[in-house]
Amino acid sequence: MVCGQPLFSSENKYDSGSGWPSFDAPMGDAVDQKLDDSHHMRRTEVVCQHCGAHLGHVFPDGPAETTGQRYCINSASLKLVREAAERARIRVKTKLVLRFQA
Ligand SMILES: [Zn+2]
Repeated sequence: MVCGQPLFSSENKYDSGSGWPSFDAPMGDAVDQKLDDSHHMRRTEVVCQHCGAHLGHVFPDGPAETTGQRYCINSASLKLVREAAERARIRVKTKLVLRFQA
C-alpha cells in the first residue's frame, strides 16, 4: 500500500547547509512527533501521521525568523509531486509538494 499523504510544501523548504532536505514546518498536522532515545541521543522523531512511517527528525535550531524548527527529512522517503496551481486561489505559480513514498 502506498501512502501519498502530503507532508511538506516547498514553501517551507530552506537550505540548512546540512545536506538534508530541511523544512521549517510540516503541512498542517501531516506529521506526528515522538521522542527518540536511540543512538545515545535524545532526539524528536518525525513520523507520517497517516501511516506512522519514519521520516526524519526535528531539531530546535531552525530559522529564527519563522518557526525556529528544523525538520531534517530523509530524502529517500520523499518524492516531488507537482501540484496544479488551481488549488491555490491567489498564487499563479506551480507549487512543489513532497509526499511520502512507500
Ligand atoms: Zn504515510
